[in-house]
Amino acid sequence: CGIVGYIGNKRATDVLIEGLSKLEYRGYDSAGAAINTGGNLEVRKFKGRLAVLEENLKEYPVDGNLGIGHTRWATHGAPSDRNSHPHLNMDGTIAVVHNGIIENYMELKEELMSEGVVFKSETDTEVVAHLIDKYYKGDLLDAVYKAMEKLRGAYALGITCKDYPDTLIAARKDSPLIVGLGKEENFIASDIPAILKYTRDVYLLENGEVVVLTKDEVKIYNQNREEVKRDIYHVTWDV
Ligand code: GLU
Repeated sequence: CGIVGYIGNKRATDVLIEGLSKLEYRGYDSAGAAINTGGNLEVRKFKGRLAVLEENLKEYPVDGNLGIGHTRWATHGAPSDRNSHPHLNMDGTIAVVHNGIIENYMELKEELMSEGVVFKSETDTEVVAHLIDKYYKGDLLDAVYKAMEKLRGAYALGITCKDYPDTLIAARKDSPLIVGLGKEENFIASDIPAILKYTRDVYLLENGEVVVLTKDEVKIYNQNREEVKRDIYHVTWDV
């Protein structure tokens, strides 16, 4: 239901919690985050209020400047800790948050299971993490594109990979996603209010686009994998 992603110099969990709290009005049943700490992906996810995640992070803080966060409105799989996002590949090196519905997830799941993939959740989303893993041969952007070719339905995705401690990848099709542009920091979010505390300069992503963010740079690619230029949209309103 809600997505926030961050890369920069701040502690990522602070930005994720702040951003997700601005999306709470949309309703949700669970909240979670994955932080790329360089050597590891640290994942926390819980059924219930955002405050449950926030309390956990207060008690057991995670240091890291790259993270993806999610508030879930369950469509496939009951609300539970396990079904909360992020979802991971089997060895926990790729984490994904997703808004929307993967319509052909059953068929993809059966195919992946026949190839030996063991699923941990009942969600439609988990296939995305395993698909990216299947296609990942050292080039994450390529793997994301190949996974997208298989996916039917609506999605906004935030993706982090252990091998990419300085790069956040996001993609969208028929679910909203925007990029927030900061100074030595950049953001993704499913809606503008999530990032207004930090920046008013945004890129509105179009259908089928994939975006690669580092703290200093944002590159947008279209469905044909060509880099595209986007005008900055300056937000003048307040929430
Ligand atoms: N379909 C996904 C799920 O049920 C994502 C739902 C959402 O947009 O929050 O987990």
